[in-house]
Amino acid sequence: MLGGDPVCLHRAAYWYAQGVLELDPEPEPPASAAPVVCFRCRGAAAGCPVCHGAGVAALPDQAAALRLAA
Ligand SMILES: [Zn+2]
Repeated sequence: MLGGDPVCLHRAAYWYAQGVLELDPEPEPPASAAPVVCFRCRGAAAGCPVCHGAGVAALPDQAAALRLAA
């Protein structure tokens, strides 16, 4: 976190709500090709169908996997 400053925490929450910050993988994330920790296996499954054992996957790929699984 950002420490005990309530103003900074509030600002961070505001920007996160606007989709500017990327804290955790979300089902409908902001468009980004940056790899993030796999939402399905958290990097712990060698046979994971989302990350294929890499432990990380691009957000669009994870979102696509979520839609397929829905
Ligand atoms: Zn995975």
